[in-house]
Amino acid sequence: MPLRLMIEFDTAVHHGSGFGIAGVIDRAILRDENSMPYLAGSALKGKFRFAASRLLRAKGGQPCGPPGEPWCSGPTACLLCRIFGSPRRSGLAVFEDAYPAPPADAILRALNKNSRSPVLAGGSEVRSSTAIDRYSRRARSQHLFSTEVVPPLLAFESQIMGELNREEIDCLIASARLLDHFGGDSARGLGLCRCLVEVAG
Ligand SMILES: [Zn+2]
Repeated sequence: MPLRLMIEFDTAVHHGSGFGIAGVIDRAILRDENSMPYLAGSALKGKFRFAASRLLRAKGGQPCGPPGEPWCSGPTACLLCRIFGSPRRSGLAVFEDAYPAPPADAILRALNKNSRSPVLAGGSEVRSSTAIDRYSRRARSQHLFSTEVVPPLLAFESQIMGELNREEIDCLIASARLLDHFGGDSARGLGLCRCLVEVAG
């Protein structure tokens, strides 16, 4: 039975595509072929693994894998490797990409269709910030950096598929509660969120 994943943002969020649009924007958000913003399942999975390893450490455990430990091996893998996989085995949990939940999805579709910009799809905002010099850590004068963000108060939903047992499901539910930011620039207040995982149906 799939698990339902909800992630609700209090602030705007930048989940980057890794690309800009030349002359228009320095950092664009990730969008699918219909220009709909989404959160990559692989990025969500990474966040959940990190949260699950924090939970394990809080209980006095030591997650396997770098830095410090080898990946666990043998027929019985640890809880984290069973769920999330490792270079030695594939994990059970499959995180699907998260899409805007109703009713915002319909609004975003309409905004995309009616975008007045020939290059930038609708439904997003552009934030400008001063570029910080990597070496001096001081703001470079005359350098404004533009970041595309999804507007605040959007919720995204996704599913986690896979044959998970009760212990593995409980780990994912507990990890979701720890997730309080997602995407880039959380130090500037972007991507603050709450996350919920529940058994669907
Ligand atoms: Zn392991």
